[in-house]
Amino acid sequence: MAYIEPAPIKDRENPFESMMSRFKIASQALGLDDEVYNVLKSPAKQVAVSLPITMDDGSIQVFEGFRVIHSNILGPSKGGVRYDLSVNIDEVKALAAWMTWKCAVVDIPYGGAKGGIKCNPRQMSSGEIERLTRAYTVALAEIFGPDRDIPAPDMGTGPREMAWLMDAYSRIQGMTVNSVVTGKPLVLGGSLGRAEATGRGVMVSALAAMEKLKINPYQASIAVQGFGNVGSYASLLLEERGSRIIAISDLSGAYYNEEGIDIEKAIAYRDQNNGHLEGFEGAEKISGEELLTLSVDVLVPAATEDVITTENADKIKARLIVEGANGPTAANADAIINEKGIVVAPDILANAGGVTVSYFEWVQNRLGYKWTAERVNRRSDRIMKDAFDRVYETSIEYKVSMRIAAYIVAIDKVSKTYKFRGGF
Ligand code: GLU
Repeated sequence: MAYIEPAPIKDRENPFESMMSRFKIASQALGLDDEVYNVLKSPAKQVAVSLPITMDDGSIQVFEGFRVIHSNILGPSKGGVRYDLSVNIDEVKALAAWMTWKCAVVDIPYGGAKGGIKCNPRQMSSGEIERLTRAYTVALAEIFGPDRDIPAPDMGTGPREMAWLMDAYSRIQGMTVNSVVTGKPLVLGGSLGRAEATGRGVMVSALAAMEKLKINPYQASIAVQGFGNVGSYASLLLEERGSRIIAISDLSGAYYNEEGIDIEKAIAYRDQNNGHLEGFEGAEKISGEELLTLSVDVLVPAATEDVITTENADKIKARLIVEGANGPTAANADAIINEKGIVVAPDILANAGGVTVSYFEWVQNRLGYKWTAERVNRRSDRIMKDAFDRVYETSIEYKVSMRIAAYIVAIDKVSKTYKFRGGF
């Protein structure tokens, strides 16, 4: 039977409000003045563009594109470009702010931004996606720049789109400018280690948190929601370190095996099966909702926003949640999770490995030099581990959750930098 993709389920909180409510709590804990709070609460710039594209059948379809720069206080703004039907300005604003906090938590010299196009890339040809990517780049050519705003992949985009973006931007500039975008294919100045970087950071955060909770990774059972770039690499790397990945999932459903799923096999199957797991053998099929409430040591939500909500938070049995996705826990579910004593390695910490290696890619492009995979991994592992320790210590010092602690670390850094730079 042909695989029919289910419609995305997105009946959820406003992600910008989710971001703001944590931001407010952390700002109060820090005693941040109203002035600085007001500076950081609204994005610095929001751009919406309309992109008419000639489709393969000759018709013209108009797509909506966005780029939001939340802040450039720490440096040029950085963040991915998402291609998905659910893209809207509130989501892009929240994702842009999360990038600001994320870059500050791992202490890299970038502000935060995010972009998106409302489209369904799975139903478009490669030619249509290429024209859309080039049109988006031309429309935003004044916004992007290696010292201004540096895009990267996100949901629905990857090295192929980044190559088109780099090429379109370079044509406008009349020279090759590879540092305008990260997550490029290796031959165009991409970095070794970038493809697996977010998943690798999730693995480093998970191991650091397991150590604190005295969970032995060799005996740990893990469920991973989402089997895209982040979920599949996080699964593979955690499996390599001895843990048992007992459930994985994607849009086609969830796959469960108490003995542990062979992740290399699952990745190979997905790659030969149009990118999804439908029909994967070696596991029992369960629902996506069941995966979230399995009796596991660690739950890794690595798909999208608001999958842990007030509806299901109470049923979660994991002792540790490591957030591979951006915003997987709705803000009003935080209290339930905290009351249950579940430790959360929050998104702005746990998934920051991607932007960290994006930073290394940008540095290498500007140096005109290439680092070995070993150097990239060693440096990003150290950054992730240091950031984890900083957030953990802050959570003890302020007696708050790791999530609020991560916001405290980030907001403290951005607000101090703002005070030094000053305004008008
Ligand atoms: N889209 C990724 C994220 O949400 C990567 C951003 C980047 O590398 O700039 O962190």
